[in-house]
Amino acid sequence: MFESITNSLEAVLGKFRGKGRLTEGNIKDGLHEVRLALLEADVNYKVVKNFIKQVTERSVGEEVIKSVAPGQQVVKIVHDELIKLMGESDTSIPFKEGGQTVVMLVGLQGSGKTTTAGKLARLMLSKGKKPLLAAADIQRPAAVEQLKTLGRQLDIQVYFEKDLPPTKICSEAIKYAKENGHDVVILDTAGRLHIDNELMLELREIKDTLTPDQIYFVCDAMTGQDAVNSAREFDEQLGFDGVILSKLDGDTRGGAALSIRAVTGKPIKFVGIGEKLDRLEEFHPDRMASRILGMGDVVSLVERAQQAIDFEEAQNLSRKIQSDTLSLEDFLMQLQQIKKMGPIKEIMGMIPGLGNKMDGLNFDEKQLEKVEAIIKSMTIQERLIPDMINGSRRQRVAKGSGTTVQDVNQLLKQFKSMKKLMKHFKGNEKGLKKKGMFP
Ligand code: GDP
Repeated sequence: MFESITNSLEAVLGKFRGKGRLTEGNIKDGLHEVRLALLEADVNYKVVKNFIKQVTERSVGEEVIKSVAPGQQVVKIVHDELIKLMGESDTSIPFKEGGQTVVMLVGLQGSGKTTTAGKLARLMLSKGKKPLLAAADIQRPAAVEQLKTLGRQLDIQVYFEKDLPPTKICSEAIKYAKENGHDVVILDTAGRLHIDNELMLELREIKDTLTPDQIYFVCDAMTGQDAVNSAREFDEQLGFDGVILSKLDGDTRGGAALSIRAVTGKPIKFVGIGEKLDRLEEFHPDRMASRILGMGDVVSLVERAQQAIDFEEAQNLSRKIQSDTLSLEDFLMQLQQIKKMGPIKEIMGMIPGLGNKMDGLNFDEKQLEKVEAIIKSMTIQERLIPDMINGSRRQRVAKGSGTTVQDVNQLLKQFKSMKKLMKHFKGNEKGLKKKGMFP
């Protein structure tokens, strides 16, 4: 996510950092490069113009010239202005008390609407809601089936009526929701490859007939300025309350994320960061600005951990480490929790200072899968007492996990050394305690 803009901004701002004193001249030169970096990132040119104007005004001010570390201050100004550009965080979905909240998703074909409908339903389910999905995209042949599949995966009902026009499907879905105690209805509407009259008429009819509580425009971040232009058109012709930016995981430039708010005035509510149903995140401009500038995103990291890690289990694990009874079964559980936080590369990118240095490093996610497969091919007893895994057992485990005996040997060896290390640490801790150096 955002690798290319992060790298170019880091390089430009790095030059500022080295400067002891900033003059109007060198600020202008530097900001010219910032401007190029933003244009290269496919940020809307009017947005860039305004952005540079703001940063220049603030940087050339006395405030900077007098400061102790002027370079750092320019970085801070760019950071602040990036946040301003994306506006205040607004990730709330206003739910109606005691009635149905109807959320309508609109956007072009392929923008990720159907997938987002599933992700949003999952999110609402986790907030204690009982959502109903309405399949009103009868334009794209596979959309209804796709939504039904997502519904089955999530155990969420999907409403569909064959041979009815989209508006009728939506109104019937809302009626069904009322009768069956669903407090949220998510309407997955049709898109087209391009904006056309037919599409707008269809969407306007749904909007005017059903007056949904919220309309969200779903667009593909990877299409950069095209996404921004279609957002503007949808807003002018239909109107919407917020944006959901999908496929941000594949967006290295960040142009849509940076300009859509400034162009439409509408907030980005959520971002899609992967194809799976749990890959939807709230959009927070401040965190995004930090990520773009390679300053990490600790808050999102902590949130991910909170969602993925079972803290009771973690405490349990800590006790096992203390008492030297950690087994491969515990290790497997630990591994699975880490995996739930998302791809390792992405997690590392959230750590301050590491973000932009991730490119050269090759984290092989497959290695984790391999370790998991090996442990899963062991019996519970073997996981609890790894010492009993003799030669023939190792052969069986390798075969079962589709790996080699060397792989199994390596894992067992590493696990043994890890335990030894923990024991060593524990021993030291006792020693330090004796010396009064440890609480
Ligand atoms: P629709 O035509 O607007 O309903 O689009 P779909 O929901 O069918 O999505 C189009 C494609 O984009 C599918 O292959 C999805 O799996 C993929 N997709 C949707 N959201 C994301 C996302 O956040 N990240 C990635 N990488 N792929 C996504």
